[in-house]
Amino acid sequence: MPIPEPPRFCPPAPAGAGPFLLSINPADGSQAGRVAQARAADVDGAVAHAWQAVRCQPWRDLRLDRRADVLYEIGRLLRAEREPLARLQMADSGKPWKECLHMVDSAAGSFRYYAAVCETLQGEITPARGEYFSMAIAEPFGVIAAITPWNSPIMNEAQKVAPALAAGNAVVLKPSEETPQLALELLRVCHQAGLPQGLLQVLNGSGEEVGAALVRHPGVRMLSFTGGTETGRAIAAVAGQRLIPVGLELGGKSPHIVCADADREAALAGVLSGIFGSAGQSCVAGSRLFVERTIYAEFVAALAQRTRALRVGLPDDPGTQVGPLISWQHRDKVAGYVELGRREGARVLAGGYAPEQGALARGAFYMPTLLDGLPAQARVCQEEIFGPVLVALPFDGEDDLIEQANGTAFGLAAGIWTGSYPRAWRLARALEAGSVWINTYKQSHIATPFGGFKDSGIGREKGLQGLRLYSQNKSIYWGLHTQPLSLG
Ligand code: NAD
Repeated sequence: MPIPEPPRFCPPAPAGAGPFLLSINPADGSQAGRVAQARAADVDGAVAHAWQAVRCQPWRDLRLDRRADVLYEIGRLLRAEREPLARLQMADSGKPWKECLHMVDSAAGSFRYYAAVCETLQGEITPARGEYFSMAIAEPFGVIAAITPWNSPIMNEAQKVAPALAAGNAVVLKPSEETPQLALELLRVCHQAGLPQGLLQVLNGSGEEVGAALVRHPGVRMLSFTGGTETGRAIAAVAGQRLIPVGLELGGKSPHIVCADADREAALAGVLSGIFGSAGQSCVAGSRLFVERTIYAEFVAALAQRTRALRVGLPDDPGTQVGPLISWQHRDKVAGYVELGRREGARVLAGGYAPEQGALARGAFYMPTLLDGLPAQARVCQEEIFGPVLVALPFDGEDDLIEQANGTAFGLAAGIWTGSYPRAWRLARALEAGSVWINTYKQSHIATPFGGFKDSGIGREKGLQGLRLYSQNKSIYWGLHTQPLSLG
């Protein structure tokens, strides 16, 4: 049965057509673009169309090497368009140029990796207990919903869309309303690469309206969410009611640990990039620094000096190390946390203000900030700030360290700098975190699973586990009986 053209919910809006969503460049307040806005009523059509695509297109039953061909081609086209896509990304999110290139490369890499996984994936033949042949195979859910945040546009979307398509699903994707443009570009590239129409739908709209309607929609069989912990909790509650699986990649307050025997220079550089990269707007930002008390004063003084020397600048300036935050509203939230820290008794060793002079005064910038003098239970040490704010705390010995480091609701990531292999291993095993970095930080690649312990999430993206998230097992028994089945 031929399927109709999918409803075009979200092409860039013609001037003045509305309703539309504006994307504002946080570096200078200019309009980065505008896209047609979906409403809750559009969710029905998108899900119905996705099901139509699942049922009428051979995607699910396509030979895996053919499915992989399309995914490889998506990766190739993304890579070929890396500069224009990175430019759009820079305008949408305010991220510095190099980071934007990295986001596009990462998205391309996700499609390439899941093309390879798709092509080589095997089912299992299970050891039979009778006259039959038994096997376990992976099947898609049908239509899944993917909901993404603003901090890594196209990279986060690709991390969900590539494995979900590789597993044979259709995807209805709702990107963040703060960064609506890259998902539409991904959709365009997917169609250009030959992805059958309807298998990927993009709905740009608010989380409270469109996101919530998508999560509740009875036609959605699996939810994949990346975003804040409280939103994740609300989505998980709906998934619980509906008894559908959910993958959650949520917030963090990751401990970054420097032991007295660490390579000081390497640790300083690692701690700086671990928190101030992406202006701290990274789920794995090393936002709580634990330094062994014997070197605490010296290390934190050196860190404060280097924090003050960081180059905060416009995203397209090649010398920029720290760009703007996503919005002025978010900057106010970050500044509010620093004020709270001051009221709680923090010493502000670097930053603690928004620049008010020159070009930066027009953007949503906030200076890299280092606080100390707070107890580990202070709100600033417990809650995710998601900005360029680092709190430093001393520790005495491994037991004290583990108690403090594990003493938050989160468990996304952790970093350890030490010269001792046995100590690194003991700490890595004792930390409650989905990723642990030893003498490095924030390394990540598509072939290694990623996700959180505790309130940082449920399930794992990336790697082979990242594909299984979007599949359900089917066990098949094939009778080889020489005698009829008996009741006894
Ligand atoms: P957010 O939770 O506010 O929004 C994320 C997405 O959910 C957006 O698309 C939003 O529109 C949608 N949404 C909001 N309310 C919804 C609802 N009721 N129902 C359905 N959808 C809804 O998060 P954010 O501010 O966009 O992103 C920052 C957060 O994301 C941080 O907490 C960060 O740690 C987290 N994050 C986690 C990872 C990870 O892999 N663990 C990666 C990136 C970001």
